[in-house]
Amino acid sequence: MQDNFKFKKALGQNFINDPKLIDKIVDSALIDKDTLVVEIGPGAGALSVRIVSKAGFTLLYEVDERLELYLLKLLKDYDNKKVIISDFLGVDVDKEISKYDYDKFYVVANLPYYITTAIITKILDMKRKPDKLVVMVQKEVADRLEAKPGSRDYGAISVYLSYFYDVKKLFDVDRNYFTPVPKVDSAVVLMERKNNIDEIDQKLFLEVIRIAFQFKRKNLRNNFKKFDLNMIAQILDKYGYSLNDRAEDLPLDVFVELTKNWK
Ligand code: SAM
Repeated sequence: MQDNFKFKKALGQNFINDPKLIDKIVDSALIDKDTLVVEIGPGAGALSVRIVSKAGFTLLYEVDERLELYLLKLLKDYDNKKVIISDFLGVDVDKEISKYDYDKFYVVANLPYYITTAIITKILDMKRKPDKLVVMVQKEVADRLEAKPGSRDYGAISVYLSYFYDVKKLFDVDRNYFTPVPKVDSAVVLMERKNNIDEIDQKLFLEVIRIAFQFKRKNLRNNFKKFDLNMIAQILDKYGYSLNDRAEDLPLDVFVELTKNWK
């Protein structure tokens, strides 16, 4: 990359270039030629070369048009890739991936941190959800993504994500691995798609979770006060909880059951 490249803080541009770290991230995804990979925010392509060389095909979504030619040049020896200069949040990714026929579909990325939740929510909304994600995120966000009931970090995103994926933090990454050095440390998270999940109304499920966690310090009676408290109390009781508990105490099963019975 040119020495005079001006990093855009507003786009979360903190690039990595340590070969060992790059190998460690990409290798943990176990990509092969049967895999379609989506990389969000390839930046200067730190992860991209290693991803593209392993995958069947790679779609690279980068919003910063200044990086297009650089990426194309860097990846010029590979036909099995498409660089898409667009806001990942604004494009129809389902439509794009439906053009490719690969057994497996993974997302591998060092995410732009300012939109981590929006990206994950978008991915969970996709018709074809990735079989696996290996993503670098802010350390505190990694803790929230993998949090279990009863922990301080357990929130709406932990519950929602745990319905679709087994989530595990793989390793922490010190801020000094990035250029420019950000104010936060990072972690790499592995998410593997769960099989055989019950069919539920996904929109309603997210809504129920959001209502339950709306005021984190308040109990369920308070957060659910506009809804059918009798039905809710009965379900909670079945699982050993009550309206005096908080959303952060409830395991995934209870949210699923509430959604199935929501009126
Ligand atoms: N993958 C590179 C690396 O690891 O060095 C760069 C990672 S950097 C943390 C995040 C990248 O996401 C930046 O290149 C930034 O321009 C890009 N980005 C920011 N917002 C985006 C969006 N809405 N859609 C696609 N890419 C975005």
